[in-house]
Parts: sequence; C-alpha cells; structure tokens
Amino acid sequence: MSVLTETKILKNFIGGEWVASSSEKMEAVPNPATGELLAYVPISSREDLDRAAAVAKEAYRSWKNTAVPKRARILFRYQQLLVEHWDELARLITVENGKSFAEAYGEVQRGIECVEFAAGAPTLMMGNQLPDIATGIESGMYRYPIGVVGGITPFNFPMMVPCWMFPLAIACGNTFILKPSERTPILANRLAELFKEAGLPDGVLNIVHGAHDVVNGILENQDIKAVSFVGSQPVAEYVYKTAAANGKRVQALAGAKNHSIVLPDADLDIAVTNIMGAAFGSAGERCMACAVVVAVGDIADELVARLVKEAEEMKIGNGLEEGVFLGPVIRDSHKERTVKYIEIGETEGALLIRDGRKDAAASGEGYFVGPTIFDKVTTDMKIWQDEIFAPVLSIVRVENLTEAIELTNQSEFANGACLFTDSAKAVRQFREDIDAGMLGVNMGVPAPMAFFPFSGYKKSFYGDLHANGRDGVEFYTRKKMLTARY
Ligand code: NAD
Repeated sequence: MSVLTETKILKNFIGGEWVASSSEKMEAVPNPATGELLAYVPISSREDLDRAAAVAKEAYRSWKNTAVPKRARILFRYQQLLVEHWDELARLITVENGKSFAEAYGEVQRGIECVEFAAGAPTLMMGNQLPDIATGIESGMYRYPIGVVGGITPFNFPMMVPCWMFPLAIACGNTFILKPSERTPILANRLAELFKEAGLPDGVLNIVHGAHDVVNGILENQDIKAVSFVGSQPVAEYVYKTAAANGKRVQALAGAKNHSIVLPDADLDIAVTNIMGAAFGSAGERCMACAVVVAVGDIADELVARLVKEAEEMKIGNGLEEGVFLGPVIRDSHKERTVKYIEIGETEGALLIRDGRKDAAASGEGYFVGPTIFDKVTTDMKIWQDEIFAPVLSIVRVENLTEAIELTNQSEFANGACLFTDSAKAVRQFREDIDAGMLGVNMGVPAPMAFFPFSGYKKSFYGDLHANGRDGVEFYTRKKMLTARY
C-alpha cells in the first residue's frame, strides 16, 4: 500500500489502529525538491498522547511477559520485511526529506542494522550471577524492561533515528510511543505498518504525530518512564531538563559542529572525496556532517582549490534523479536561514569562495542552496560557532596539529571529528586530545554502527547512556539484584 496516494491527512497509530487526531490543527508536508504537497500531518493534542500512553501501558502488561526469544522472532520477521521493502522505503525518504536516493538507500540499511542488533535481545537481556558470594549464598542480576518509553525524532533521518529507539526498546520488553518529526512524518507510518505485519501485538508501538504539545505530553505523562530524544541543541536541553524534573530516565542527542583536520601528509584524493561527501551529502543536514575543515600548513591552497572544483561539478537536483548528489534543504524557511548565514559570513569578513546562492537550482522550485564554501574563517565568527545544518562549509587555516586540535576543542559541540593523515603518531595525538565522541581517520562520516554507542558529548548530548549498542540496552532496561540463601 502507498501511504502517499491513499492518505492525505495522516493518522496516528494507536493500539494497532489508524486513528484520526482529535485536534483540527495540521501542517502541510511538501516534497522539498518540488514543493508538491505530499500530505497533511496532524498536530495532535495532549489528549491524543495521553490516550496512546494508556494503550501502551496496557500493552506493556503482556508484552513484558512475552518470552524474549518470541519477541526476537518478531524482530527477525520485521528485518525481513524491511529488506523486502528497501527500495520503497528509500524512495519515501527521498520524497519527504530530499536527500538523494543513494543516501536514502544507505539510511534504510542503517535502520535495518538497528533491527538486527535488537533481534539479539536474548543475549542482550541476560543478567549475571555469582553462585557463592558467601557459604551457601548466591547473588545475581536480572534485567527487566522499564515500561512505556517515548521517542521524539528529527527530520533528517526519518528511518535511522526512530530505528535507534523503538526496535531495541521493544525487543527489551518495553512498549513505545514515537513522535516523529512533523516535517518528515510519512515514513514513520510505514515503519509501524510493517512492524504490525511482522506480528507485533497491538499497542506495543504507537505513533502520535505533532509538535510541542505531544512532546510536552511525553515529558509530563507519568505513565511514560523514559524518553529518547534526537534533535537540535536547545530542544535537547529542554527535553533533558523537563524529563528529568518529571522523574524520567532521559537521553537527548543534540546538535553538532564537526571539524575535519587535514594534515600535510594526507592523501588528498581521499580527503577531498570524503570531505565533499560529509559536507554536502544529505545537504549538510547530518549531525555527523563536516561543517569545518581545518587545513594544516601548506596543504591548504591545494585542498581549497580542489574542494571548490568538486563543488563546481556537483549535480544538484531532485534526489530521485540519477547522479544527483545534492538535494534540497528541508523547508523554504531553512533555505532562508541558510542564506542569512551566508550573508552573516560575508559581513563577518570570511572569504566566500563558492556561493551556492548563485546555482541555477537555487532560483527554481524546491528549497535548494548550492554547495557554499567560506575560506579564512575564524573562531570569533558566528558561521564557525553555530550549527548551520546546510550545505555550507567553513575552512580554517592553522600551522600544526596541536593548534588544529586546540581550535576544534573550542567548539561548544562534541559530536564527531575527523583527521586525514598518514601518520600513526598524529592519529594517537588526535585520539588522546580531541574533544569529540565519534572520531574518524581518513573518513568523513564516522557514524558508529548499531552495536556501538552514538557517543557525542558537551552540547551534543544530554544524559548518561547513549543511543545504540550496550548503552541502548542499559537505557531501556532496569536491573534487579537477588541475593539468596536456600
Ligand atoms: P528539532 O529540534 O527542530 O526537532 C526535533 C524534534 O523536537 C521534533 O520531533 C520536533 O517536533 C520537536 N521540537 C522542536 N521544537 C520543539 C520545542 N520547542 N518544544 C518541544 N518539541 C520541539 O530538530 P530538527 O531540525 O528536526 O533536526 C535537526 C537537529 O537534530 C540538528 O541540530 C541535528 O544536529 C540534530 N541531530 C542530532 C543527532 C545526534 O545524534 N546527535 C542526530 C540527528 C539529528
């Protein structure tokens, strides 16, 4: 079935049923490449959220007691269905988000990997025991789910980010309420539909579309025990503080400003290809995007010239077209914000060496900004400090690696950082001294796979346990200790 053709006003998914929102408020969901209307998303009420929470609480009573291998088997079937629908899901991502089909295809893979990790629940849920802590006395740790979990997700990865959350939470025995981004809500419905087809009992996964009211409901409703959030820094901080104040467990993944340091001994072919992909892939709308290149020593001139040349040759357009590398940004308002940042960069005195406002696509339909590059950027500039989240790359020039690391560490954010070099000694210094949670060497987007934690810090993360991997299992479970004499 196609959500696109059959559903003009999206519905919420509560208790295994498609339910119209009780609110009359809604927002248009356009295709960012064309401006064409895809659907309307309901801006649901607190009442809708509370209803979903009650249903999820009820479903938890039986789901938590469903044997773990039985839960895992549903995840295996879900994985199979996602594989079978790979192309369809990727097309949906491109249509509602704008990223190229190749990027969307890769995103589906990342989502599927999360389901594969979650299907390991029988191993992941194991506790541990010591049979003789004293004569005739044993002690053991047993792992249990925590209850109803709420997930709030951003627009930039409509499949991967929700899949960081609900498959693992559900495999661990929790029930889940997802509040997808109101800017990319369509794919979430398809994910829920396929999970139901895989045999997931009603009420275990619920979707409530909307914005602030639903988020605040998730943060306040006392039947929701934990909150996973991914989105921008101010909202992450708000979600973290409010959820914690309401006694909930919370992990909030936030914004970023990732630096790539290029040393004089780097292989320039590798550096240029990877930086172009990291800076302009997904229109720069990635929390692991490369936003700043730190060019070290005398490599700078050649590196800059090659980046500009590649940018000139980049194919910009609708992500469904063959060979398109750079799609639109998510909304007209985001395009305006990006153009504003380009103007700010010029006013601040950075050298605009490639101006994406002048590309033909930028004046047509859709929300396009071409690849934009500023040289001679400094740390007192807003274009260096702020997350622009668009195809705008800043270049900073320094003399040596120590200076490059010190500069990078001045950022308020600490999500990812990359180093391009041939020197093991430089890699060691980078790993030891850099302030970032996800490091790459001779690669542009070092996003960890589903079995490792997604581990930003500073203003890129609020909480203790990260998403994915062991951290994810710890976050979605609680422990009981039994000490016994028989
Ligand atoms: P956003 O913060 O605008 O929205 C995220 C979610 O929060 C959405 O579901 C939205 O409805 C909700 N929301 C927005 N404003 C709110 C408010 N005032 N009160 C309550 N809820 C609110 O983020 P976005 O623009 O959708 O996504 C882009 C951001 O997400 C970037 O900053 C990016 O770096 C970040 N991100 C981070 C990671 C990570 O792993 N650290 C991954 C992906 C995206």
